[in-house]
Amino acid sequence: MRAKQTMTNIFLDLLFPQKPYCLICDNRLTEPRSIICKNCKRKILPLTEPLCKKCGRPMKNNNRLCHDCQREHHVFVQARSYGLYEATLKQLIHEFKYRGKRELAEILGNMMFCVLKQLTWPAFDYLIPLPLHVKRQRERGFNQAFLLTKVLSRESNIPIFQGLTRTKPTEHQTLLDKSFRKKNLDGAFVILNKNKIYNKTVLLIDDVYTTGATAGECSKSLLEAGAKSVYVLTCARG
Ligand SMILES: [Zn+2]
Ligand SMILES: [Zn+2]
Repeated sequence: MRAKQTMTNIFLDLLFPQKPYCLICDNRLTEPRSIICKNCKRKILPLTEPLCKKCGRPMKNNNRLCHDCQREHHVFVQARSYGLYEATLKQLIHEFKYRGKRELAEILGNMMFCVLKQLTWPAFDYLIPLPLHVKRQRERGFNQAFLLTKVLSRESNIPIFQGLTRTKPTEHQTLLDKSFRKKNLDGAFVILNKNKIYNKTVLLIDDVYTTGATAGECSKSLLEAGAKSVYVLTCARG
């Protein structure tokens, strides 16, 4: 059996020669078909308590809500992420999103699955990828949230709902001031096949949680369409 697997590996290596160097640090990889080295993987730390009960922001003490969440109410129940959007995790997401390294969905999606397994959230009826506007998706060639959702769906056996669509091409949220950010998102999401999510508990999936404005607006649309409750899971948070 072992010999057979080795032969298969040799055959696969010939068919798909992969650069045997770590994507992040350029050190030589020791494990077959890995993308980043153990050392870099170890540096991607998961967030730990205390976290804001609402949005998952790391806190210095056990306050229930962070400043943002005290000032602004989000309609989703809770948002959680694997780690902070910085250093190695940020680099990985950049390679994934902007340099087309789709295979990174596997690593990133599995990190998110680790978070999902540890949380005491209710059983979800659907995973819902945060949609890109059709124009942006055409430019990029894929929706990063959908690729992450596919990995999560496979690992968790929760089906994907693909009826959440984006009708307005939104500008980069971080570049806009707060009031314009809101206006920019007004009516940006439309839901098809509403009957499917009626009274369902759903989990919204994205790569990065920044201000919560986009996740909040999606959640609003889903609740208006009849969803029972919305939770949010991202790989990283800014
Ligand atoms: Zn490395
Ligand atoms: Zn918060």
